[in-house]
Amino acid sequence: MTGAPLRILLVGAHPDDCELYAGGTIASWRAEGARVDLLVLTDGRLGSADPAAAPGEIARLRAGEAEAAARGLGAGIRFGGFPDGALADSRREATLLVARAIRELRPDVLASHDPWRTYELHPDHRACGSAVCDGMIAAREAHGLGPGSPPAHRPAELWLWGTDHPNHFVDVSAGLERKLDALASHASQFSDVAGWRERVAGWNARIGAERGMRAAEAFRRILA
Ligand SMILES: [Zn+2]
Repeated sequence: MTGAPLRILLVGAHPDDCELYAGGTIASWRAEGARVDLLVLTDGRLGSADPAAAPGEIARLRAGEAEAAARGLGAGIRFGGFPDGALADSRREATLLVARAIRELRPDVLASHDPWRTYELHPDHRACGSAVCDGMIAAREAHGLGPGSPPAHRPAELWLWGTDHPNHFVDVSAGLERKLDALASHASQFSDVAGWRERVAGWNARIGAERGMRAAEAFRRILA
């Protein structure tokens, strides 16, 4: 890593995943002057308990919420647009899209779901983590994306969240409120925003308690 501001790319399966797992870390990166971008792979169209809701409408609503959340954190955002719940059907396309985003944004740190989490039931989380790991390799190989693509890029580090084997804990005490505010931007996802804030704050407090921090987020940090 150089003395220049860090560049970070986080890739989430759904419109609220980056904020849920890494929102406090995003806030602390931004406080240090890092450039942070989010890539949301699916359109979140299944994110409603209302059987009468139109999937396209839910997707549009959630994209707007995700943009507001990213704005609140001072992060850029882009969307993959793959259908919610079926990312595994588009694994190759998702891998290439991630690889292209890595080459365009040239992050020092790449972050996403841990695809090796035991009993990770959500297929999009597994598929997203795998696409990011595979995309990272395709991005760094000169011929990984075919002719006409941006030049190869190799992020220095890969951070995986939702992991069984964390080895890096970020103190998010200072950024916790910004994280909770960003999550609250995803208003369509909660019937009880106050209760949800409390649950997430409690979760981050429990992670931090084992490390002597008021609140923390946990990652498997891999030097790539
Ligand atoms: Zn998710």
